[in-house]
Amino acid sequence: MSDALEPELDEDIAELAGFSLSGEGVTRLAWTEELRAAYQWLGGKCEALDLSWQIDAAGNFVAKWKAGSGPATLVGSHVDSVPSGGRYDGALGVLAGLHAIRLLKRRGFSPRRPIWLIAFMDEENTRFNSALFGSRAFCGEDVTGMGERRDATGVSLAEAMRAWDREIATASEASAVAAVGRFVELHVEQGPRLEQQGLQIGVVTSIVGMVGYRVEVSGEANHAGTTPMDLRRDALSGAARMVLAIRDIARSSSDATSNVGVISVTPASSNVIPGSCGFTIDLRAGQDDTLARIDAACREKLQRIASDEGLALSLTETYRMAAAPMSEHVIGAIEAASQDEGASSVRLPSGAGHDAMVLARYVPTGMLFVPSQNGMSHSPEEFTTPADAGRGARVLARALEKISS
Ligand SMILES: [Zn+2]
Repeated sequence: MSDALEPELDEDIAELAGFSLSGEGVTRLAWTEELRAAYQWLGGKCEALDLSWQIDAAGNFVAKWKAGSGPATLVGSHVDSVPSGGRYDGALGVLAGLHAIRLLKRRGFSPRRPIWLIAFMDEENTRFNSALFGSRAFCGEDVTGMGERRDATGVSLAEAMRAWDREIATASEASAVAAVGRFVELHVEQGPRLEQQGLQIGVVTSIVGMVGYRVEVSGEANHAGTTPMDLRRDALSGAARMVLAIRDIARSSSDATSNVGVISVTPASSNVIPGSCGFTIDLRAGQDDTLARIDAACREKLQRIASDEGLALSLTETYRMAAAPMSEHVIGAIEAASQDEGASSVRLPSGAGHDAMVLARYVPTGMLFVPSQNGMSHSPEEFTTPADAGRGARVLARALEKISS
């Protein structure tokens, strides 16, 4: 039975993917008409299950199964996408939540607590540099300072909200976390581990902590042909040593990653020694102490290389987020649910940020991953098989049952 399909879920995935700008893959950015139409469609699906729904002051879609009493069990993810993204990132978490409720209702389950389905606004950060806007506002964090951030066409977040009859100044009215007792998010893995190991469910132990830097390395621009090799202060050569050192430091730890994703050279001429070089660093680790260790090791190593090469170094921190451990209670419920469903599972950290990272600061939170074919995500090629998606929804239903009874 564990490979059983869930045709309604498959249909929902295909229909939701239709709410997109034309072009390759799914493009459904925050505060757009495409997203609003997707919410309307989702609202219809919720009404068919007797759930009431609304769009809150921060643009989150919230549907409620009004049952029982006390703090609600919240389930969901996001339905905004990156440009030319896939059908599953975020969307599957919301649709699996919807389908889980459908299964529970069909089974005649009566929850002792209310169950709420949510699609958080702007998880993806691709339009206004306002990542996790909806989940932060839902949790009562102040997001009102972001109103003047603008998209590539010059539209501000405040203006985009106004087109939805929402005001940035009152976005905090979305705060509702006080009425929530638990949060559980299903998501596609966005990596290859489950598929490679032939496993069906990933039980997230923590969402990685991360730190980002903007690095400037300064040397001296000079004639490439007349300056002797031993007298050069070549910023790019120094930066190249640094890039490799950063990689090696992350490799020395089993649960850390590092990435240098942007690099620029000035004056960028084939016959001029690079006078300065800028690059970014992204460091991540499942445990805060691992992150602190690789962070310190990188900073020390870069300093050493700079003085070795006669270069000046400046590091500007651009972001820092602590690791978000998931709740043992919810982890246990997901593991037991997997077992009941006959699904194999493994505990793993999440290397990507998610709305659950915000929620985990306020309520016991858990996440489960389903396999991503070839580990692909943020791409039209993103794919999770109907068997894996259906199994994920059934495990989610059982987990909701355990934490809501
Ligand atoms: Zn996502």
